[in-house]
Amino acid sequence: MKNTKEMRNWLNDLGLNHPLVIAGPCSAETEEQVLKIAHQLKDTDVSYFRAGIWKPRTRPGMFEGVGALGLKWLQKVKAETGMKTCTEVANAAHVKLAIEHDVDLLWIGARSTVSPFIMQELADALEGTDKIVLVKNPVNPDLALWLGGIERLYNAGIKNLGAIHRGFSTYEKSKYRNIPEWQLAIDFQNKFPDLPLINDPSHITGKRDMVFDVSQTALDLNFDGLMVETHFDPDNAWSDAAQQITPQALVQMMVDLKIRKESDPEAKFNQDLSTLRAKIDVVDQQIIDLLAKRMQIADSIGGLKKTKNVAVLQSKRWNEILGKMVLQGEEKGLSEEFILKLFKAIHQESINHQEKVIKD
Ligand code: PEP
Ligand code: MN
Repeated sequence: MKNTKEMRNWLNDLGLNHPLVIAGPCSAETEEQVLKIAHQLKDTDVSYFRAGIWKPRTRPGMFEGVGALGLKWLQKVKAETGMKTCTEVANAAHVKLAIEHDVDLLWIGARSTVSPFIMQELADALEGTDKIVLVKNPVNPDLALWLGGIERLYNAGIKNLGAIHRGFSTYEKSKYRNIPEWQLAIDFQNKFPDLPLINDPSHITGKRDMVFDVSQTALDLNFDGLMVETHFDPDNAWSDAAQQITPQALVQMMVDLKIRKESDPEAKFNQDLSTLRAKIDVVDQQIIDLLAKRMQIADSIGGLKKTKNVAVLQSKRWNEILGKMVLQGEEKGLSEEFILKLFKAIHQESINHQEKVIKD
């Protein structure tokens, strides 16, 4: 992708002095529900009203959306409130209908981004459109798949683009519905710094009382905006009831969120910041040196095991290390989640080193 700067035009043109906000229910349920939420969001920071009308549900038999009928309701939202509208599209027929009904922004869901076939079908159907198209990350943490989806759209001449970070599925138990893997979103930003990146705290958390916290983290990481599922009666929503917040809660959240500047020209601030960053650089170097030292020891252990034909993996010892490290980490304010991730990675690298010695 060459000219990524122009992808931001649609966002710059909005001229907002706050992060972009997209809000509305997970699903359009009835005409009354859609219009009631839209009127409650009118005259707030919300620029785009969202409502899913074709719902990708994990198991059959759940509410799969009202279908094309909902497009008429979105037209009414625009006529009555002046808010622009958006919905999810997952195939060429959805694209055609959404465009015919003046939907302003289309997003591609996480279950579609995983499939290059679907992404290509959507890119072909959208070819040359001046609609805004946002691509949610795929359900699995695969940066290339996410970028590939965006590239397919870009190659089809779609210039008003952006990405939505909605977290990643995992088999492991976690406090999140979809774990954020912030590092992956940061890698995404580094790769395409100009591409607008929106956070979806609703699908990351799955729980309304965590939505604020994840939104704040996203803003701290320079995300360009938020997509928040909003319903006047969240508990009785036909889908994603636990994660939706009321329009009133959204308004309050936008007041409470701290919107950070990218930088500040003040000299003392910049001096302090570079001193702290220099300290971090020194510590990072020490971490690398220590890891290298640890791997040298692993090489020696590998050599020793080889002489007696002893297996590389010693599960009992490994579990002891892990338990000890979690406790020590906790004492120093490091979360269990972090320690487990870190030491699993270190252990894997040690095994690779020992394997190499044993096989040599
Ligand atoms: C949604 O936005 O309602 C949705 C289905 O999201 P995702 O594709 O992130 O699961
Ligand atoms: Mn949803």
